[in-house]
Amino acid sequence: MKGPYGKMVDGGQRLARVLGEGTGHLLWPRLCLNCKTPTPVNQGTLCQSCWGDILACTAGQYCPTCGLDVSEYAVFDRRCPQCVNERFHFDQLLRCGVYDLGFRDMILAFKNGRTEMDAVLGPMAGHMLQGHPLAGEIEVFVPVPLHWTRRMGRGYNQAQLLARALRFRGIPVSIALKRKRRTLPQPVAGSVGARRRNVEGAFAVGRPASIQGRCVCVVDDIKTTGATLSECARILRQAGAKRVYVLVLAVAGQRSVG
Ligand SMILES: [Zn+2]
Ligand SMILES: [Zn+2]
Repeated sequence: MKGPYGKMVDGGQRLARVLGEGTGHLLWPRLCLNCKTPTPVNQGTLCQSCWGDILACTAGQYCPTCGLDVSEYAVFDRRCPQCVNERFHFDQLLRCGVYDLGFRDMILAFKNGRTEMDAVLGPMAGHMLQGHPLAGEIEVFVPVPLHWTRRMGRGYNQAQLLARALRFRGIPVSIALKRKRRTLPQPVAGSVGARRRNVEGAFAVGRPASIQGRCVCVVDDIKTTGATLSECARILRQAGAKRVYVLVLAVAGQRSVG
């Protein structure tokens, strides 16, 4: 069963099979891509323990605006009680899971040099899209850009790698957004105004023809406050995008239940 907000989990085995595709050339014994434990081939690219970590972070319903875990009965007009007073310029958020436990470690590793993790994270996001009712509308993926100085330091932009690793229905990836200036890491505890000011004027659209009149999906690894994604959406709309969705691997700031 697919929930209205694109629940991605319909059994770990099916997910494992999907994510194992494309890596069948690897010789036995295969090592878990994440923790390097020897792993039976039929488990796909990760070991059972790493699958467990992912499944623990990717189940459940979430708010289509802020992305936090919430029952669908608490969502009214695409808002939950946690974001009812917030304003975002994107139309809707699609996510794989919450930024927690082993899933958080995998995303951090991906950001800190383990670029091969795109072989797990890309297909995972693609699989989530597969079950999402909005997926059919997306016409172009646009990764959130890094400032060139940061990209030089890291050697790559993880959002761009992720967008390319999606390989979803042949939808193109456009490097339409540019970062004009460096921004500070978003202060999660900062005021809404401070977060907005930090990213205001930080982005520009470099290839307007690739997004004009189109339904754009902005891609990033994590949503923290949402101010960056919202500012990207605002700039894309201003440049002529018809609709803007955002796709992230994980949403941070989940207040855990219990
Ligand atoms: Zn593992
Ligand atoms: Zn919400």
